[in-house]
Amino acid sequence: MKIGIIGGGQLGMMMASCAKELGHTIYSLDPSPECSITKYSDKHFICNFDDKLCLNNLCKEVDVVTYEFENIDYDTLVELEKSYNIKPSSKALLFTQNRFVEKTYVNELGINTVDFKKIHNSQQLTKYENKGKFILKTLCGGYDGKGQIMLDNIVCENARKLVNRYPCIIEKFVDFDYEISIIVTRLNSYELEFFPICLNEHRSGILFTSTATNNISKTIENKAREYASTIAQDLEIVGTLAVEFFVKDEELIFNEMAPRPHNSGHYTIEGCNVSQFENHILAITNSKIIKPILNNKCLMVNVIGDDIKRDFSKYEGVFHDYYKNEIKPGRKMGHITFVANNIDELNEKSEKYLEELQ
Ligand code: ADP
Ligand code: MG
Repeated sequence: MKIGIIGGGQLGMMMASCAKELGHTIYSLDPSPECSITKYSDKHFICNFDDKLCLNNLCKEVDVVTYEFENIDYDTLVELEKSYNIKPSSKALLFTQNRFVEKTYVNELGINTVDFKKIHNSQQLTKYENKGKFILKTLCGGYDGKGQIMLDNIVCENARKLVNRYPCIIEKFVDFDYEISIIVTRLNSYELEFFPICLNEHRSGILFTSTATNNISKTIENKAREYASTIAQDLEIVGTLAVEFFVKDEELIFNEMAPRPHNSGHYTIEGCNVSQFENHILAITNSKIIKPILNNKCLMVNVIGDDIKRDFSKYEGVFHDYYKNEIKPGRKMGHITFVANNIDELNEKSEKYLEELQ
């Protein structure tokens, strides 16, 4: 089939490389002529994501269109959907591109989130002075902790500036025990497959490691599956959906979700019999999806900024280069996955790399 992918970053690239192995042809769209996906795509449309004509031209040439990120104009996608096959549908986008809409939506599905409020101007921030820890987040467009400011009794000038510039939400800071994510792929209302849960560690708001060792309690895992399934069914997702949770006192608190493969699911490439990318491509091309099994214990570490300059051949992990043309602080440049039969071996293999990162 001919598959169109909107967005040419690493997620698009890994979708494309997997789709090529399955025999598909890839048409990509991104403003950058040298973005990661061009390593694999057969044809690349260079244009902005709001260029309706260009989006239309992409859709015209392919059998199905998917996307690697949520910041596509909703109305444009609704319009395109009238004539073309877009997976996941605009409904998935509607409930994932705005943090307020997203959290309100999952609350309505009976899933617990942190307390949150919409904030439009800096006067509304004044009442958070001397009230403890909160996180201010832009409603739309934030990723990797970008567009977020922590308030700790004090409302700093940067927080006032942020809210005066962009509509935001303010959330209570959760002193969680740990963070997890679950990835599910849905083909239709009776075919839905879960990937094993992984444990996520963030540094400065950016995912640092994801660990999948099958050591999360069954109670937590079942709850995460139940919530992810409720969401995937209600959104009628066709493709892969990732849901992030905070875990506090064995309770799950929904943090956010994405209707696409997710950074925390990269371990599935080496760790499982099927990757999150493969199941995504299978679902959007209306093929049977595969039940994931964790074959190995895995630890994935993101390679951020200057870390890409390391000699990865020195380590016992599988290195993935995103082929980005410019190194920037905080930019995800690649990832490395350590794989082992047991946890001791996993620690042993990853120790040297993690120590050197300190
Ligand atoms: P992004 O879209 O940038 O991933 P998130 O809302 O997931 O934004 O925030 C990134 C990380 O910041 C989270 O994974 C978590 O570690 C931390 N964080 C975000 N919101 C909260 C919160 N309300 N309480 C505690 N930590 C939080
Ligand atoms: Mg997140």
